[in-house]
Amino acid sequence: MGKLTIFWHRRDLRLHDNAGLYRALKNQKDVLPLFIFDRNILDDLDDKKDARVSFIHQHVNAIKEELEEMGSSMIVRYGKPEAIWPQLIEEYDIEAVYTNRDYEAYAKKRDGEIAKLLQKADIPFHTFKDHVIFEEREVVKKDGEPYTVFTPYSRVWKAKLDSRMSMTEEGVEISYYLEPYPNDKYFEAFAKTDALPNISLQEMGFEETDISFPEEAVRRGLIKNYDKTRNFPAINGTSRLGVHFRFGTISIRQKALSARALNETYLNELIWRDFYSMILTNFPHVDGNAFRAKYDRIEWRNNEVEFEKWCQGKTGYPIVDAGMRELNATGYMHNRVRMITASFLTKHLLIDWRWGEAYFAKKLLDFDLASNNGGWQWAAGSGTDAAPYFRIFNPYSQQQKFDKEMEYVRQWVPEYGTPTYPKPIVDHKEARERCLATYKAGLDNN
Ligand SMILES: Cc1cc2nc3c(=O)[nH]c(=O)nc-3n(C[C@H](O)[C@H](O)[C@H](O)COP(=O)(O)OP(=O)(O)OC[C@H]3O[C@@H](n4cnc5c(N)ncnc54)[C@H](O)[C@@H]3O)c2cc1C
Repeated sequence: MGKLTIFWHRRDLRLHDNAGLYRALKNQKDVLPLFIFDRNILDDLDDKKDARVSFIHQHVNAIKEELEEMGSSMIVRYGKPEAIWPQLIEEYDIEAVYTNRDYEAYAKKRDGEIAKLLQKADIPFHTFKDHVIFEEREVVKKDGEPYTVFTPYSRVWKAKLDSRMSMTEEGVEISYYLEPYPNDKYFEAFAKTDALPNISLQEMGFEETDISFPEEAVRRGLIKNYDKTRNFPAINGTSRLGVHFRFGTISIRQKALSARALNETYLNELIWRDFYSMILTNFPHVDGNAFRAKYDRIEWRNNEVEFEKWCQGKTGYPIVDAGMRELNATGYMHNRVRMITASFLTKHLLIDWRWGEAYFAKKLLDFDLASNNGGWQWAAGSGTDAAPYFRIFNPYSQQQKFDKEMEYVRQWVPEYGTPTYPKPIVDHKEARERCLATYKAGLDNN
């Protein structure tokens, strides 16, 4: 093989409408995609049937097959990127490396190290925005500082989207920021090669999951009615696209484009995703610390037995238990119930939000550091936009409002209403008062 350009896939497991891949194909000849099963991440996963690893493996295989049908292939490696890249530089004559940006601390550090390695070998490293619509400091306040409150951020986000309209080839007006990248026009730029070796889950010490994954396709009708259905966990009223956004098996631009046409509430949810990514980029201390420092003075009770009961869905609060059991069984939990279970852990049980955040990180198919951290800090009251701490969700009235007929509860807690169902782990009123006193003491304490 002669000179090659490598496109490194990470959170963007698709060939269509992929910003970095588009630039590689358009600007270079002989582009060969790469995926590294990263041991820095995989070695920390205790569950060898982790569904996310199966998901990635399936999608990497699908891309590889698609490439092989075109007479190209994909380099698939298993190891630590800092060890794999020197091997690749040895093995191939690399013209340039293209990739899409990832905003988590680990990814930034990794990319910084790889950039240095490539620079030493005189190989240009090009990175692009693909994972979000607006990144880092693209949507800022008048003084140039990042927003920390969602509503004004979302207003400026929408105005920016509308500020650059262009015309598609079909004569349709579209925001410049949502225009799809026509990668397929340039597919002939993929390097021609025989099929390259693959890696099985077993070779990496993993097994195929039993969990089934949500579809990539979502009915238009669902998005159209999203504002009316999204709060009720018993019905299929949300898109379940989280895992696809997380690993980039769908394009955020395409989804934002249809959301804009179909349902503003749905578009707002996609803006929340950009918002939390922007918060993590500009305020990296949120990973591990309260966004508002004084919330780190709260004295959590951190009772391990109670935490275990919460994890297993045995708190005696039916809506909380249903949510935790749904999460344990499927890797998914409805957003309304994520808010209720997170509030219950932090406020009713006074367990550090970081414990809950870590548990969700282990279990959620759509786990995303920025959104998970944002959701947890919101629930604990320590984050951006957080409701005042004295507003404490009442799990009974939440259930009454959003699962009135108890369909969701009965689906996940079949023994509810029988003597085997546990008594409430805490009394709601007492827990509420204890929470108020503890938060007050922590926040007043200088
Ligand atoms: C405690 C807590 C933890 C959370 N952890 C995560 C997480 O790890 N990963 C994650 O993607 N979302 C997280 N969320 C946000 C939200 O619950 C999920 O995005 C949503 O439930 C996923 O289901 P869906 O795909 O059907 O979403 P839909 O309701 O169909 O929304 C479409 C998409 O919009 C985005 N979105 C929706 N709501 C939010 C939100 N509040 N914040 C950020 N993005 C949002 C997601 O990408 C989602 O897939 C968390 C929320 C809470 C309260």
